[in-house]
Amino acid sequence: MSNPAPELQPGVILAATYRLEELLGKGGMGEVWLVTHLLLDEKRAIKLILGEYAANLQVRERFIRGEARNALRLFHPNIVRVYDLGQHKDMPYIVMEYVPKGAYGADLRSLLRAEGKLSLERTGEILNQLAAALDHAHNQGLIHRDLKPANILLSDQGQVKLTDFGIVKDLKAQDEYLTSEGFAVGTPVYMSPEQARGEAIVASDIYALGVVIYEMLAGRPPFVGLATSVVLQHTTTPPTPLRHYDPSIPDGISEVILKALAKPPQERYSSALELAQAFETTLKENRPTIDTTTIAISTTPARRSRELTQNTPISTDTTAKIRILIADDHPLFRDGLHILLDSVPDMEVIGEVASGDEVLNQVATFAPDVILMDINMPGINGIEATRRLVQTYPQLKVLIITMFEDDDSVFAAMRAGAKGYLLKGAAQGETLRAIRVIAEGEAFFGAAIAQRLMTYFQGIKPSIANQSPLLAELTEREHEILTLMAQRLSNPEIATRLFLSPKTVRNQVSIILSKLQVADRAEAMRAAWTAGLGKDSEGTNL
Ligand code: ADP
Repeated sequence: MSNPAPELQPGVILAATYRLEELLGKGGMGEVWLVTHLLLDEKRAIKLILGEYAANLQVRERFIRGEARNALRLFHPNIVRVYDLGQHKDMPYIVMEYVPKGAYGADLRSLLRAEGKLSLERTGEILNQLAAALDHAHNQGLIHRDLKPANILLSDQGQVKLTDFGIVKDLKAQDEYLTSEGFAVGTPVYMSPEQARGEAIVASDIYALGVVIYEMLAGRPPFVGLATSVVLQHTTTPPTPLRHYDPSIPDGISEVILKALAKPPQERYSSALELAQAFETTLKENRPTIDTTTIAISTTPARRSRELTQNTPISTDTTAKIRILIADDHPLFRDGLHILLDSVPDMEVIGEVASGDEVLNQVATFAPDVILMDINMPGINGIEATRRLVQTYPQLKVLIITMFEDDDSVFAAMRAGAKGYLLKGAAQGETLRAIRVIAEGEAFFGAAIAQRLMTYFQGIKPSIANQSPLLAELTEREHEILTLMAQRLSNPEIATRLFLSPKTVRNQVSIILSKLQVADRAEAMRAAWTAGLGKDSEGTNL
């Protein structure tokens, strides 16, 4: 990639005061430099906003006069101090406290990448500092809006320093604040249901804090997948209790986090401090107990010999075949699926049943990874069967395959704990993709369903649809990936940029190719350029 701002080099002096020393990092909005304050001879960090934001006069105005100014009022040991806002050429910048990076890198995101997950004690320490920072800001009437591991810096002294207060909103006008799918700008993985609909309140920061703690303990956030499905899961799906990722986590701790993640904002803790105190008290009361029999089961290498127990941690083994149980009362449909699934090397059908009661009775014997579940079956229907199964075996992944496509069925299935939803007419490729995606622990909605869900979330702007009918098929996340492909980023670069695994990006790229009906990456890039995507690739880093 070309340097987006060639005038930024070591030695360059901004506002006759700050000398650029060294590039500390590049982020979603621009570059962060270590600078020397020439009069005070002190180190500072400067974040320069580049690209589309910097080019727009209105955005610059809003940034310098807007909410980011409030960050100047925040003085707290756990908040990165903001000293000044300014503009160099057409680039707005923020002058901040310089936080030298700790042993694990600059922020919680790098710590989690290095460690996978953190102990209860370490999580508690980080939570206490984050809660203190948020509480201070909330008491001043300031909401963060974009709390996530990348904004939680970790200093070389082991201190937590929250950064980027109020910045997201200032870089987007109110009418730009919703994406073309009607979702608020920000990071869907950490975004509360109300913020996804455009309303950020104190409780939205508490929710995001809940997601961050969940991720520290489980090693993954509660909901992952494409943007649309993540937003939908935040709105409807109950998070999986933490003991299913780590049996040593006491249920009391899990409950504290689930309360922070309550869908209605009024059911969450009323302040970040209250959440941190509940965590600490519960931790003192409940020293973790480790169930060694469960751990023995979880280390069994192959899925084939795995037993299905209530406490089996969710499998991360990706080499074994995906074991599939089909639950459908139509023999012909079952046969069709069976033939399709047997034709691919990474799946095996381990059983077929024809009713909800049979699934419930036989699931423990079959120990499947994925259940393909019809809704309309004799006796207990597929949604009720899903609810009961997931309650007992939260690691089970249920993909609903049905004729129904009304919103109520989709939402009922999601609430019951289904991980995906597909219509019976779906193409074979889509069916296989859905199974692979949910086997990896992500959610999946067929193209037709995703389209309906978007209309459910209001404020839809048809800008993508106007560009090209095929582009309209893409979810927001796919659109985002295509834009980065059009900017000539490789899959690993896209993975880093979007905090996804390289494998997920590979899967997504193949979904994009099939949705755009193109044969290869080059053709997809051409389609994107024709639609005007990735145009700023030469000039900016965004
Ligand atoms: P992102 O969009 O990934 O959050 P940022 O633009 O905020 O990235 O920051 C890019 C990188 O700059 C961060 O990963 C971090 O290493 C570094 N950085 C940001 N703020 C500071 C600071 N105040 N002190 C030191 N390093 C910082």
